[in-house]
Amino acid sequence: MLIAKDLNSLEAWDKNYLWHPFTQMSSFLKEDPLIIKEAKGVILKDVHGKEYLDGVSSLWCNIHGHRKKEIDKAIKAQLGRVAHSTLLGASNVPSIMLAKRLVEIVPAGLSKVFYSDDGSTAVEAALKMAFQYWQQSGHPEKRKFIALEYAYHGDTLGATGVGGIGQFHTVYRPLTFQALSVPSPYCYRCALGKDKETCGLACLEAVERVLRQGHKELAALIIEPLIQGAGGMIVHPTGYLKGVRELCSKYNVLLIADEILTGFGRTGRMFACEHEGVVPDIMAVSKGLTGGYLPLAATLVTEDIYNAFFGDQGRTFFHGHTYTGNPLACAAALASLEVFEREAVLKKLQPKIEFLRDRLQDFYGLGHVGDVRQCGLIAGIELVKDRQTREPYPATERIGHRVCLEARNQGALLRPLGDVIVIMPPLSITLRQLDRLVSIVWSAIEAVASR
Ligand code: PMP
Repeated sequence: MLIAKDLNSLEAWDKNYLWHPFTQMSSFLKEDPLIIKEAKGVILKDVHGKEYLDGVSSLWCNIHGHRKKEIDKAIKAQLGRVAHSTLLGASNVPSIMLAKRLVEIVPAGLSKVFYSDDGSTAVEAALKMAFQYWQQSGHPEKRKFIALEYAYHGDTLGATGVGGIGQFHTVYRPLTFQALSVPSPYCYRCALGKDKETCGLACLEAVERVLRQGHKELAALIIEPLIQGAGGMIVHPTGYLKGVRELCSKYNVLLIADEILTGFGRTGRMFACEHEGVVPDIMAVSKGLTGGYLPLAATLVTEDIYNAFFGDQGRTFFHGHTYTGNPLACAAALASLEVFEREAVLKKLQPKIEFLRDRLQDFYGLGHVGDVRQCGLIAGIELVKDRQTREPYPATERIGHRVCLEARNQGALLRPLGDVIVIMPPLSITLRQLDRLVSIVWSAIEAVASR
């Protein structure tokens, strides 16, 4: 049990020793610290005993809730065997079992699994594979990438090169290659000034233009399928992903699907690509892969891509990390996939998605809600200063942050994306808990935005 003296020390040490990611420390140090001590299901508990609904799945990764019996058990059992052994030229049992299982559930055609440790590294592997594939397939001139405006694929330098969020990526431009950019199908703020109902997916023409002009030098297009996460939960119009797939095939450019956020049920199907019957050439998964327990990622490829690396030493994919295919993480992932099946998670998810859809309509009753977007059990609520003109709030107002602080007071943990409030609970949330979460978000927005 922590006593008051320990608590004071923890808070002081947090401020003295930790540098938090994606966090302006000068602001952070002025706020009351939030230190999580334990969790159960979708409830997190801080060191003072206050409870919170995990409204963003501990950064978009938790799937079946915290301390899920089956996953805890699988990790403990694996600990009794071996915690880590290398995949470089050798193997371990859970990594083999998981690779087989993944190939069974991903879109048919993806047949080989390359492990890494988190989303960024899965993307890094995907980019290097796409590049080297063409080097070794008689088209060494195909070296460039296309990415979407507002894209987020991770923080490593390669992933930064295909990133499209100014605030995160601009400063590193001199350090990295820059992908060709196509407009995001962000219908609320359409770059082409079109209307969603009548545009006929004009944004696909912009993609085709870049492909037509540059295909001889283009290695791959990378996309977050159906929904761009960090860019502001931008939900793509139906048919866009399928259209991109068709264009990539037409112009002989690889399609990389970054399913790091969307994979493992978030969108209502196991993978977002399934909604439009799309099979990418390369697919990156992470976050929910282990149920949100341990860092693990996989980059899956087609037989054709794998074969381009097959043969003499010079064709090897010289890439990999120390903890690649970590047995504890693979055991957690296997257990999580078993839970999906045993508990019919995807089937039980559908009424929750419908419930969320219904409840989200209420948000239009709040004067500063500009757009409400949903994809499966993910929602983004975009707050605006002026609903008529869609004028954003000045960044200095930190409206999203203030709404999330208010939600925290009321018992829900959220993390905004600028002025977009995100709701993305674990798939295991009950209807009652979801109702409570949505009510808290509503009243936090009402309290802060109407002030
Ligand atoms: N791709 C997408 C679509 C993501 O949402 C993220 C993380 N938010 C990443 C890649 C990077 O993953 P990680 O933070 O695990 O490196």
